[in-house]
Amino acid sequence: MAWETAGAARLPRDWHKRRARVMRRDQRQCQFPRTDGGVCGQEATAVDHVTAFAEGGDDEEGNLRAICDAHHRRKSGEEAHRGRERHRPAPRRRAEEPHPGRRC
Ligand SMILES: [Zn+2]
Repeated sequence: MAWETAGAARLPRDWHKRRARVMRRDQRQCQFPRTDGGVCGQEATAVDHVTAFAEGGDDEEGNLRAICDAHHRRKSGEEAHRGRERHRPAPRRRAEEPHPGRRC
């Protein structure tokens, strides 16, 4: 059987053990970084890959962290969108005109 499904279906066989270890290590607190340098700290409901498997991450504990529901959902969404997001059209630039009639 091939492992064709991306995402959750390709987790390692001892995932539940790793997951439990990571939860304990992180004290069931979301480790998602905040902009001020701290972490989210909400009650974690999932264990997340810091670097997504699709982006070269692995299932080692060093690449895993506890994460809350909100962040888990947000992150999964962002990963799904990545690559599609890139073609936002550049903002239209007005042609540079010399300022009319403004002399000092
Ligand atoms: Zn969080």
